[in-house]
Amino acid sequence: MTTSPRPTPPQDAQARRDIQPVICYPNETLPTVDLPAIRTARAKAPHLETVIAPPREAATFHVPAGGYFRITSVDGPQVGDLNLWNAHDLSERFYSGKTRALHGTHLTTGERMWSSFPHLRPMATIIEDTLDWYGMDAFGGSVHDVIGTRCDPYTHYLLSQSQYHHCCHSNLTRAMADATGLPLHEAEVHVHDVLNVFMCTGFTRDTGQYFMKASPVRPGDYLEFFAEIDLLGALSACPGGDCSAEHSSDVAACYPLQVDVYGAVPPEGWSEPPRNGYDRTHGRDS
Ligand SMILES: [Zn+2]
Repeated sequence: MTTSPRPTPPQDAQARRDIQPVICYPNETLPTVDLPAIRTARAKAPHLETVIAPPREAATFHVPAGGYFRITSVDGPQVGDLNLWNAHDLSERFYSGKTRALHGTHLTTGERMWSSFPHLRPMATIIEDTLDWYGMDAFGGSVHDVIGTRCDPYTHYLLSQSQYHHCCHSNLTRAMADATGLPLHEAEVHVHDVLNVFMCTGFTRDTGQYFMKASPVRPGDYLEFFAEIDLLGALSACPGGDCSAEHSSDVAACYPLQVDVYGAVPPEGWSEPPRNGYDRTHGRDS
């Protein structure tokens, strides 16, 4: 929001604006994803369990490295907020910002969820996305973003001075506390920026503000992942429902989300990705 008058533009203002952008992180050198091989292996993977995230609640699940998980819309249009951790080391968790820098604002088939520093390696690879057809709409909106953070009670309080306890941040916090046995406030610090599953979002062209619109998801749509490492996952069924109107309240129609976990049957020749190869000396000898 600009409240003071803008400075007078320099004479070459338009010339500066007209400079062509360059991609910050050309991603052609990222390790390739062999989707046909992964899908062939997936067809042989046994179903291990089904977990339901109830409306305005979250659920956790474990996926072995080389296994798979599928998030499905069941009873009605619903978006979900997904967190991932290394099941053996909670300090390695999904890094939304770097994933955005590498792949763009929204994820789809063949793209990956990358982990935090100093690990920075693939945690999960998207292998099926039934909403892949949506693409980018006329408003600049698309599905499965890594630009929103998660709805949370702190921002809600900041903007409305009221208490609400079923934002995705709180749902994920309670689920993490239950899954790990950690006290609530210790579990909370492990909750991080999410992959917004099924959510349709973008930035307004005029003000650059984060927007959401009714998700195109319908019951039966799903997003499926290949687990690159042993994962602990948590999925919140957002209180915003399909996020067509508002979140951080009990107003929207809300539905459950289903997670199905499949066993470790990786493609032939696959091995768990190593932690990042940077030597971590940061330019110092000792
Ligand atoms: Zn939410």
